[in-house]
Amino acid sequence: METREERNKQLEKDDKKYLWHPFTQMQDYIREKPLIIEEGRGCILKDIYGNEYLDGVSSLWTNVHGHGKEKLDRAIKRQLEKVAHSTLLGLSNIPAIRCAKKLIEIAPKGLTRVFYSDNGSTAVEIALKMAFQYQQQAPDGDPRKIKFISLKNAYHGDTIGAVSVGGIDLFHATYRTLLFESLKAESPYCYRCTFGKTYPSCNLECLKQMEELMESHAHEVAALIIEPLVQGAAGMLVQPPNYLKKVRELCTRYNIIMIADEVAVGFGKTGRMFACEHEDVVPDIMALAKGLSGGYLPLAATLTSEKIYEGFLGEYEEFKTFFHGHTYTGNPLACAVAIANIEVFEKERVIVKLQGKIEYFRERLQPFAFLAHVGEVRQCGFMVGIELVADKESREPFPLKVKTGHHVILEARRRGLIIRPLGDVIVLMPPLGITTDEIDRLCEIVYKSVRMVTEKD
Ligand SMILES: *Cc1c(COP(=O)(O)O)cnc(C)c1O
Repeated sequence: METREERNKQLEKDDKKYLWHPFTQMQDYIREKPLIIEEGRGCILKDIYGNEYLDGVSSLWTNVHGHGKEKLDRAIKRQLEKVAHSTLLGLSNIPAIRCAKKLIEIAPKGLTRVFYSDNGSTAVEIALKMAFQYQQQAPDGDPRKIKFISLKNAYHGDTIGAVSVGGIDLFHATYRTLLFESLKAESPYCYRCTFGKTYPSCNLECLKQMEELMESHAHEVAALIIEPLVQGAAGMLVQPPNYLKKVRELCTRYNIIMIADEVAVGFGKTGRMFACEHEDVVPDIMALAKGLSGGYLPLAATLTSEKIYEGFLGEYEEFKTFFHGHTYTGNPLACAVAIANIEVFEKERVIVKLQGKIEYFRERLQPFAFLAHVGEVRQCGFMVGIELVADKESREPFPLKVKTGHHVILEARRRGLIIRPLGDVIVLMPPLGITTDEIDRLCEIVYKSVRMVTEKD
């Protein structure tokens, strides 16, 4: 019989021997002791040694109500007794139908159709292809409209189409020759404003640039894609008030399809069910993933208006069909848990109760602004970015190779918290189910870890 100690050693060896981790320099990874998770309850993850950690980034922005949420667990077990998977290609299944209905009930009014896939990148690819094909063939489409507008600093996923509308050089530059061209609008990154201005006296100069872009290119632009309210992977860049609303107005004025990528911001993360609600915006297409299944299973959905949907109707031989579909599209287990996820939102009045926690979180974050190397603390609901800088006055960043952010998260890990930085932006995005005591612990550990790493001399 293998002892637990032997099992753990073997797992650590095999992790380094067989796995290739995403977004990871494996040469560095294999030098450090891997953290292998075995269990999760609420906001706590437990490793193979039984050490407990607070899940400070909700298992990469996915988890919503906590791990091991009974209603979600039960939904999967129940569905498993019926069928684990059957296809949506030509057939249907019960959870896929019910989940689609629920999504349309809660989505911004005007979105009426659900197209499933299994991750955020595919949800975005689908949105891009739908917008493109719509322009090619719909009665009021325009086949000359073949380009996309996206934002600098944008992140929409890692497949080639999603990378084409991405704007983070570190992730995207290598693939440039593989990509289709997209027109880049300025990103509203107020802390490092391209125009050297300050909100609100800037009068949203960045939007003027977007409008100019539209004015000169509208005839060839099929759609604009945007992360509403927060550019997540760029470092939690929070957009100024009314920015999104104005983008919606511009899209309408220049007859450009608006795609909202709510993959990160959806499902309560900003304090409303969907980020678009904050500014009463109804996009033409909306991409959902991450929190859709409560952080349980890979599931994504692309929602569209009836008008877009109708652009694909016709006799078979007109070939207006949307020729796209993934094998696990509409997986019954994933849809069953997504329904349960939404039901918990409703039954436990999650969004209402969240408001107090957001304010509590905001108070607990206040001391960070006074730290010597904290340039800016950005918060939108439960999405937080703490930008570390070498020099507060000049806003000069730390040299990349020092990996300041990485050292902070390792320090936090030693203190029982799992977080993941974006460069030198420390990201906090706990599950919505976190308690105020846990928010205290989260902030305390991050505070100490930031000081430890940045003020050590
Ligand atoms: C994470 C993310 C994606 C990609 O989702 P995957 O499931 O990782 O493919 C797309 N858009 C945004 C805004 C994201 O944060």
